[in-house]
Amino acid sequence: LRANFSVIQNEAGFVSGLITVLHDVTEQEKIDMERREFVANVSHELRTPLTTMRSYLEALTDGAWKDEKIAPQFLGVTQNETERMIRLVNDLLKLSKMDSKDEHLNKEWVNFVEFFHHVIDRFEMAKQQNVTFKRKLPNTEIFVEIDEDKMTQVLYNIISNALKYSPEGGQITFKLRELNEKIEVSISDQGVGIPKENVKKIFERFYRVDKARSRKLGGTGLGLAIAKEMVEMHGGSIWASSKEGKGTTIYFTLPYEPAQEDEWL
Ligand code: ADP
Repeated sequence: LRANFSVIQNEAGFVSGLITVLHDVTEQEKIDMERREFVANVSHELRTPLTTMRSYLEALTDGAWKDEKIAPQFLGVTQNETERMIRLVNDLLKLSKMDSKDEHLNKEWVNFVEFFHHVIDRFEMAKQQNVTFKRKLPNTEIFVEIDEDKMTQVLYNIISNALKYSPEGGQITFKLRELNEKIEVSISDQGVGIPKENVKKIFERFYRVDKARSRKLGGTGLGLAIAKEMVEMHGGSIWASSKEGKGTTIYFTLPYEPAQEDEWL
């Protein structure tokens, strides 16, 4: 807190009052610090793939292009890095759109049970690992007002992590339950888990428990930060619980008003 004092004098020069203005500088300083840190992170995240690409391209220019075995490998690396940079920039654009508040929700009434099944189906068809899916979804219809594209993105980010961090033969459990004026969605895996002191941090931009591992798995470190923004835009909340070596569960809620059956009676 910073205080500014102004002395009020009357015509004769006598002090007749004192104005005190208190500024909450801590909040502004915090925002500035976060912004600087964010820019530093972005620069670093972009420099890493670029320097990798530079060295592979240098090697190719220096003659590796003539080697039929090595050349495709090196080109493959530069292609992977390019893909990751595109993902990173796309994620950054999503976040900056939401930050600048010119992003709005395209809400529609959607039966969340059916919608959730569809998203899980898509992952189940595409998955290449030996991981089983278990669904604990109600058989009823639950209509919520959501932006389907954004909610798909939220689920996509959470489920791809669950798959990325799942062990061979692991199980991913999908749950949906109705609570008092909200629905709760949870996605649990039996993967590496997250150390207790870091569980809250995983929703921060660029935070990763294991940087090298996340990078190897193609992560940008922004997936959960985006999910958090999108869930909060819907008026819900998101959190995680995890046990190291046992697995992780990501939960989120969305506002829900059970249908008033007698409304039109
Ligand atoms: P990333 O692109 O690195 O996956 P995210 O924002 O999606 O970025 O996640 C941030 C970090 O949280 C990950 O790097 C990882 O350390 C941790 N994390 C997220 N989901 C899981 C999970 N299901 N199991 C273990 N760790 C996870």
